[in-house]
Amino acid sequence: MFDNLSDKLDKAFHILKGHGKITEVNVAETLKEVRRALLDADVNFKIAKDFTTKVKEKAIGQDVLTTLQPGQLLVKLVKDELTELMGGDVAGINLSGTPTVILMSGLQGSGKTTFSGKLANYLLTKKNKKPLLVACDIYRPAAIQQLYVVGDSIGVEVYSEPENKNPVEIAQNAIKHAKANGFNVVIVDTAGRLAVDEEMMNEIERVHKAIQPHETLFVVDAMTGQDAVNTAKTFNERLNFDGVILTKLDGDTRGGAAISIKSVVNKPIKFVGTGEKMDAIDVFYPVRMAERILG
Ligand code: GDP
Repeated sequence: MFDNLSDKLDKAFHILKGHGKITEVNVAETLKEVRRALLDADVNFKIAKDFTTKVKEKAIGQDVLTTLQPGQLLVKLVKDELTELMGGDVAGINLSGTPTVILMSGLQGSGKTTFSGKLANYLLTKKNKKPLLVACDIYRPAAIQQLYVVGDSIGVEVYSEPENKNPVEIAQNAIKHAKANGFNVVIVDTAGRLAVDEEMMNEIERVHKAIQPHETLFVVDAMTGQDAVNTAKTFNERLNFDGVILTKLDGDTRGGAAISIKSVVNKPIKFVGTGEKMDAIDVFYPVRMAERILG
């Protein structure tokens, strides 16, 4: 994960090794390389620039040059700043409802259906919940079928109304079904399109308004880099979602989306997807991710 970024940061810090005495020029050079590494990882220009400016200010504030191990201190400052950029503390999921209603949003192919299954499995096995999966895609029968396959594989019931073309009604009926049958979490998988379009946005907005979810989660493919950040912005403007799910972090992703998304939409990354299997889900810990990136 993010191997390229880790390598480049490692090289940046090499500048500080092998110098008898470290100078301001060495630090500036290192931070320039850090910025370059972030840009290469597809972090947007302003975020990368602000990042190095902040680290530089802290380095000056803490008198980096006069400390015994300036290289180590600089690595620490970069790690702290990366942690902060990715959200600081771990963000939990609100499970206070009876039932808790969770709405999944995102583009087609982002991994919504897969993640709905992973989340149901996580809540069932780790949080002792009884989840219900709801198929609200009225356009693609294959999408409903896919949710049944997922539900079967983890032993979670799926609610659908294949003849009903009104996703608002389906979602509302599913919540009634959950209440009547002792389900305490309802995960609503919605229809996505290949790109943002007005009809999809209007539809999910209607569902969102009607069911007032406790958690609205935006699912995005980490491999799409800056596009992931832009799509997040659009969905957030319409849904004011509660958290981001970054999928496909097991792939050859450069890391830009993971690093930038929080500061662009000001919403935390709550979980990441790291594979196609139902147990390939991790709670997102900014500090662990920063440690991983810095090796
Ligand atoms: P949806 O259209 O948003 O519901 O997306 P799907 O859940 O159907 O996922 C699209 C494709 O991405 C499928 O082939 C999934 O198996 C795959 N996928 C989803 N999440 C992950 C992940 O975290 N890692 C990998 N490698 N593949 C994933």
